[in-house]
Amino acid sequence: MSIINEDKQYIAGTYNRFPVNIQLGKGSIAFDEQGKEYIDFTSGIGVNSFGFCDEEWAAAVTKQVNSVQHTSNLYYTSPCVQLAKLLVQKTGLKKVFFSNSGAEANECAIKTARRYAAQKKGSDFYKILTLVNSFHGRTITTLAATGQEVFHKEFTPLTDGFVYAKANDIADLNDKVLNNKLAAIMIEVVQGEGGVNKLDKDFVDEIVKIANKNDLLVIVDEVQTGNGRSGKYYGYMHYGFMPDIVTTAKGLGGGLPIGATLFGEKTSEVLTAGSHGSTFGGNPVCAAGAVSIVKRIDDNFMAEVTKKSNYIVKELTATKGVVSVSGLGLMLGVEIKDDANKEVLAKCIEKGLLVLTAKNKIRLLPALNIPDELLKKGISILKEAIQEVVL
Ligand SMILES: *Cc1c(COP(=O)(O)O)cnc(C)c1O
Repeated sequence: MSIINEDKQYIAGTYNRFPVNIQLGKGSIAFDEQGKEYIDFTSGIGVNSFGFCDEEWAAAVTKQVNSVQHTSNLYYTSPCVQLAKLLVQKTGLKKVFFSNSGAEANECAIKTARRYAAQKKGSDFYKILTLVNSFHGRTITTLAATGQEVFHKEFTPLTDGFVYAKANDIADLNDKVLNNKLAAIMIEVVQGEGGVNKLDKDFVDEIVKIANKNDLLVIVDEVQTGNGRSGKYYGYMHYGFMPDIVTTAKGLGGGLPIGATLFGEKTSEVLTAGSHGSTFGGNPVCAAGAVSIVKRIDDNFMAEVTKKSNYIVKELTATKGVVSVSGLGLMLGVEIKDDANKEVLAKCIEKGLLVLTAKNKIRLLPALNIPDELLKKGISILKEAIQEVVL
C-alpha cells in the first residue's frame, strides 16, 4: 500500500497508525481502499458522535459552508450563538468561549482560573491541582496539567504551577490543597487516556467540599466524557454538583474541530474584551454542525446510550479472558487477561472491527447512535478476538 509508505515519508512520525486506510464511512461502518468493511467502535476517538457522514450533520455543514464559512470574531454570526445557548440550557452554566480543540478549551479554563484567583486572592494563588494519570492536552501548559510523567519527559521546562494529587485518594487531595496556593482543581470524572477510570463519588464530593471551603474553582474537563458520551449530557452530572468551568471538544462538533469552555456564575465575567481570543474559534461551519448534533442529544437519546452501555458491560463482563470493564456510558475500558489488549486490537482489525486502547485496556468509544445490530455484531467479534488471543 503506497499510501503507508508516502505517509511515512511526508508526515511527521507522531502517530503509530494502524494499517488501515479509511476511504469511506457511513454511520458506524468504515471501508478501506480494498472495500473491506469495519464496524467502528472508535468514532474517531469520540468525535463522530453520530458516526460517519450523518445526514443531518452533513446537511447543516453543507448549508453553512455555502452561505458563510468564516468571518473572524469581529462580527456576529448566528451558529455559534445558537450553540452557546443550547449548551447553557443543557447545563445551567452562564457563558461560553469557543476555540478549536480540547487543549485550547483547557488553556482558556486555566487562564480564567488564574485571572479569577489573581483578582480575588492575589497573583501568587496561581497553582492548579490536577490528578495523577489525567490527560488535558499536548500544549506546553496542558501537558503540565497532565499528570503523567511519560508525556513530560524531554519537553521541560513546562508551564509552572501544577500540582498532582492521586485520584480517589482523599488524604493526598487534602494534603496538596493545604500545602499549595491554589486557584483551582481540575478533573476528568472518567480519566479517558489514563485508562478509562471513573472517579469515586466520595472523592468528587470531597473535591467540591474542599473547593468551596477554600474558594477554589472546580474545572471539569469534559473533552472526552462530554456531549452525551457518558449517558448524561456531561459526566459531572452523574455526581450531582455544579462546576465553575467545564471544557469540552471531541464529540461536540460531530467531526469538525471545535472546543468550548463553559463558565458558571463565578467565572462568566472573568474574561473581558482583549483578554482572550481565537481566530477560528466559533467558526460558523463547525458551530452549525455542532448545533445539529447537540440538539438531538436529549434525555430519550441518552437513555438509549445507557441501554447500549449496559448491553456491552453485561456481555463483556461475562466473557472469559475479560478481567474488568470500567467507565461510563459509551466510554468503556476493557481489561484483558495478561494485558493482551494490543493483541486483541490487532485481531479485531483482521476480523473487521476498529477499537482503541488506553493504557493496558481496550477502549470502546462507538458512535452514540450505533445501531443495535451493529453493536451486537461488533461485540461478538470482540469476544471472538479475546477468546482467540487469551485462550
Ligand atoms: C483528547 C483530550 C484532550 C485534548 O484534546 P485535543 O482536541 O486533542 O487538544 C484534553 N482532555 C481530554 C480529557 C481529552 O480526552
